[in-house]
Amino acid sequence: MALQNGSAYLGQSGADTPYLDACLLLSETLGIEKEQLFARLSDPLAANSHDQYQALLTQRAAGVPVSYLRKRKEFYGLEFYVDQRVLVPRPDTELIVEAVLELTDKLPHFERVHDCCTGSGCIALTLAKLHPGIEVSASDISEQALEVFELNSVRLLSRRPRTYVSDLLEKVPGTYHIIVSNPPYLQSSEVDAMQAAGWPEPRLALDGGDDGLDLVRRLAAQSKSRLHQRGYLMLEVADPQMEATMAILDACGYGDIEVRHDLAGRRRVCIGRNGVRS
Ligand code: GLN
Repeated sequence: MALQNGSAYLGQSGADTPYLDACLLLSETLGIEKEQLFARLSDPLAANSHDQYQALLTQRAAGVPVSYLRKRKEFYGLEFYVDQRVLVPRPDTELIVEAVLELTDKLPHFERVHDCCTGSGCIALTLAKLHPGIEVSASDISEQALEVFELNSVRLLSRRPRTYVSDLLEKVPGTYHIIVSNPPYLQSSEVDAMQAAGWPEPRLALDGGDDGLDLVRRLAAQSKSRLHQRGYLMLEVADPQMEATMAILDACGYGDIEVRHDLAGRRRVCIGRNGVRS
């Protein structure tokens, strides 16, 4: 009953996946996995659980993502701690992890990888966990985001990647074989509208300026001198920004420009290579 009621309530509030959300929040309340929920559905809810579940449903109905309410999100099979200090990792971003692992498989000497605008650390820490041979570092302009990164680093790894508080690569030393980023790439006007509607993710992680590509432009230019010859830059953007992103990489002198698609078939990641054009 609690599940049906919760799901109906979230449905009315306009959530996209009300049943799944109610399952996740009810299992969170009971301290069990979602898969164990169905064996418990006929159990009555204790009064304190009922109150806790209602409180979570109310927050979800007000637009707080389930991941913030559960304080965790799965990414590439690993569990990341998340809260309002960071963007919730999206499955689309797993494309970058895949692309880096493919490259480092082919080019095992490509061992220095930097993740710029790392947030929760989903890209950097997944790479460090899955590929102990590569030397991963990460940066973010937000000290608060790096606090979350540290929590995840301690949870997931025994060896901790180096981190820098930095506006893009400004305070990041050294040169790299691969620089990756899921920078803020939404248009400021979109973020204005989202925030007016109560969107809880940090503006710093979303707002990419008028056309969303301010940070892409700056990072593409900065990375040119920070990548080894034949090193790669990999950027996540939104599908409608892909032509412009390819043009930015081309204008900066990157070659072998390649686009990867996400599971929905949208163009999502743009890759360029340094030092392959005459
Ligand atoms: N993919 C995110 C969204 O559309 C945006 C993330 C970003 O700006 N890097 O909500």
